[in-house]
Amino acid sequence: MSITITDTSGFRALADDSRKRNRGPSVELLASLEPDGVHVAGLLMIHNGHEMRVRWLVKVTGQEQPASVWMDNGFDSFERYAKRIDKNAFERICFECDHRWVGDIACPVDGCDGLGELPP
Ligand SMILES: [Zn+2]
Repeated sequence: MSITITDTSGFRALADDSRKRNRGPSVELLASLEPDGVHVAGLLMIHNGHEMRVRWLVKVTGQEQPASVWMDNGFDSFERYAKRIDKNAFERICFECDHRWVGDIACPVDGCDGLGELPP
């Protein structure tokens, strides 16, 4: 199993591609991205058969919890700037309850609906 991530330069490139599409990050969010941040694709779907629609969890400078934003991208840009990695290679930290685990993005703690972000 794998997860899909990008770095800040990749996220900015995807944001450029999203400009002519329906959904993308605000100028304010782009300005606040953590320069060394790792951004995680939480939900991925194919939209109208011609583009990716992805909910990103974005690392923001000076903020504990990731920001959530939907972005549409062409398949070419998405393949180029987003990369799949082995999810088992990373320990996650739940931003709701601080539980740590390795695996899926959803927190495994009963009753917690938090999501796990990748450690810095
Ligand atoms: Zn949790």
